[in-house]
Amino acid sequence: MSSLGYSGPRSEDQEPEGAQSAWHRAQSVGSGWAGIVPSCVSPSSPRPFLRLRTADPQPPAPTGSRARVLRALGPAASAPCPAPDLIDRAFSRFRSGDVVHLRKLKNELNVLELWYGVTYAFKDLSLSCAAQFLQYFLEKKGKHVTIVVGTSGDTGSAAIESVQGAKNVDIIVLLPKGHCTKIQELQMTTVLKENVHVFGVEGNSDELDEPIKAMFTDVAFVKKHNLMSLNSINWCRVLVQIAHHFFAYFQCSPSLDMHPLPFVEMVVPTGAGGNLAAGCLAQKMGLPVRLVAAVNHNDIIHRAIQRGDFSLSAAVRPSLASAMDIQVPYNMERIFWLFSGSNSQVTRALMEQFERTQSLHLPKDLHSKLSEAMTSVSVSDEAITQAMGRCWEENQYLLCPHSAVAVSYHYQQMDGRQPSAPQCCLASASAVKFPEVVLAAGLTPKIPEEILALERKETRCTLMKRGDDWTRMLRATIEDLSRKRKRGPRRGPRKQHGKAPPAI
Ligand SMILES: *Cc1c(COP(=O)(O)O)cnc(C)c1O
Repeated sequence: MSSLGYSGPRSEDQEPEGAQSAWHRAQSVGSGWAGIVPSCVSPSSPRPFLRLRTADPQPPAPTGSRARVLRALGPAASAPCPAPDLIDRAFSRFRSGDVVHLRKLKNELNVLELWYGVTYAFKDLSLSCAAQFLQYFLEKKGKHVTIVVGTSGDTGSAAIESVQGAKNVDIIVLLPKGHCTKIQELQMTTVLKENVHVFGVEGNSDELDEPIKAMFTDVAFVKKHNLMSLNSINWCRVLVQIAHHFFAYFQCSPSLDMHPLPFVEMVVPTGAGGNLAAGCLAQKMGLPVRLVAAVNHNDIIHRAIQRGDFSLSAAVRPSLASAMDIQVPYNMERIFWLFSGSNSQVTRALMEQFERTQSLHLPKDLHSKLSEAMTSVSVSDEAITQAMGRCWEENQYLLCPHSAVAVSYHYQQMDGRQPSAPQCCLASASAVKFPEVVLAAGLTPKIPEEILALERKETRCTLMKRGDDWTRMLRATIEDLSRKRKRGPRRGPRKQHGKAPPAI
């Protein structure tokens, strides 16, 4: 895990670099890009975001507001990067012009649908932006990167979708054969573009991370082949997801004219803590949101918030919300950093202890800051199924199991007492992506034609069998890609670009 880079929160000289330089760095090596929290969003910055409200009394249009939120991150985030254009391009293949949609249902249930991207999950939002930012800088510098992603299902498909066909990028994805859903697997294996290379690994998502980690620890190899990752750790994912919280706030707040502004409670289904870190940053920027970390029975985040117990459980326990079956929530390091007064030394010491002993008791003041900022809930499979059933009964609305983790918390609150603030449940994926769980909950999945069509498409996937040397296979693939590039660009004659192929 440390090999994937935590340079931001942990580096000594720490004043984190501006987002612009973070994006710039992405085109050089990229692996060091992962841990950065740019200074323009540091807790010491003023609260520029509330100006959005006064500037625009109407709830802003999602694409526009997203661009504005990014621009408001400071000059470094918008110049010289033409953020609005890139963002429009990123969302051009979304199924809804709204990009993100708030659905108001019975019993004061607000569901923020984040899944209008091509792969029907919220990772499309941030990864499509990350890919556009990346390509912008690659193009400018005439460089090429190879992205290596390990996935439990959703990240891989969103990453592939975001860069498929891009001329300066190759993407290698390792998926856990038999451990993600049929649809997730097909969303990856049916993309036959030349720059997409998918491996089906006979192991779970922790096991397939091993060869990737092994490779990223070889710094010379990473540099030589311009390797980077695009995953939950990536700062850009968090950056873009900050905008969801602003959009949701503007939609759910009972008033935008009160002083102080009223609180809205964001219920965030989480596994790796990405959306949660985005929520914490939004909060630090002055947005009056309370956060609820809603996890499945893999509950390390819940234990950390409730009792300061950030220690590894014996094993990942498969749940109905499989994209949240995560033992080590990478983004918690960012959250610890934020709540320890941006103290890199403290954060580094904590994470090093965690890596050494796999067990960590949070210092008292850090734990109290954390538990002031957010509360948490751990939701059983049974409660997930119940929430899906109740939401259907009351609204004829299907939830995916991850979104149901959040909605289960909302129903618990409604049944107990009136929630103290309006709540907004983030819906991280569409139910159409998880028909098996919908069926198991006694409901009828509705599968759109484009998903059904996946079954009929040609697939491409190289098997990494048990007993094979996965690290060697991965390295060989990367070396092979570099060799092919050296021999000449794949698309069109070389002189078309008027340039030699990028140096490797
Ligand atoms: C990745 C994923 C999550 C967890 O995301 P984090 O923000 O990193 O916790 C939740 N739901 C779905 C559907 C996902 O794909």
